[in-house]
Amino acid sequence: MVKINYIYHSCFAVETDNSLLVYDYWKDSQDMKLHTLIESRGDKQLYFIESHFHEDHFNPEIQAYADARLLISYDTSKRRRIKPPVATAVLRPADIYEDEYLKLYALRSTDVGIASLVSLSDGTTIYHAGDNNNWYFPENEEEHIRCSLDEMEGMFLSNLKEVRTITKAVDYVMFPVDPRLGNEMLRGVCQWLQQIQTGHFYPMHCWGRWDEVVSELEPVKDLFPETEFDYSGAQCKEEPVFLE
Ligand SMILES: [Zn+2]
Repeated sequence: MVKINYIYHSCFAVETDNSLLVYDYWKDSQDMKLHTLIESRGDKQLYFIESHFHEDHFNPEIQAYADARLLISYDTSKRRRIKPPVATAVLRPADIYEDEYLKLYALRSTDVGIASLVSLSDGTTIYHAGDNNNWYFPENEEEHIRCSLDEMEGMFLSNLKEVRTITKAVDYVMFPVDPRLGNEMLRGVCQWLQQIQTGHFYPMHCWGRWDEVVSELEPVKDLFPETEFDYSGAQCKEEPVFLE
């Protein structure tokens, strides 16, 4: 059994039978759910999985848990100065980490760092995108991306192909639905859902703007009846953040 707990922004705490996987911890939720889960983990193995070094995905506190396994991207290791043995593994795209509880494939991102696909021993698969998305900013693209929109889309579609070389179906997917993309907010989401059969879909990286995210996603649900959409993040009362 797997339980996905939305924490904040792109942070999730995923409970499995024998582990607690914490992704991209930046801030805890208002009700301190992450700390409660960590404190009540019992003998479950704690992991921190870091997709990239950006401020909204990182908290230095991940180094405070002596028994945790830190699976971190190469840029996080470099920019945040976390090296082995504090880092259990430093990952680049195409690297594979494996231990007694899970196998993690580090995958390419259209931004910095990695995305990750975790396979548990019972076959359950979990994908966290980090900042991998089709960052298709039709307006002010030069402010946001360092390539053309065509190149961005090509990169994203090629990253989808990379996922498909490993699996064509993923049970749990955490993926950016970023209102800053305006009308293109769901471009990458739909490309993902068309190509990867997704059991449960969890939007993230919404900057607290859940109203916009939910109203965009609602009509899309009908196009993908086999996917369950989970908006539990919308209940977390994050303050909306409006970045330029
Ligand atoms: Zn981010």
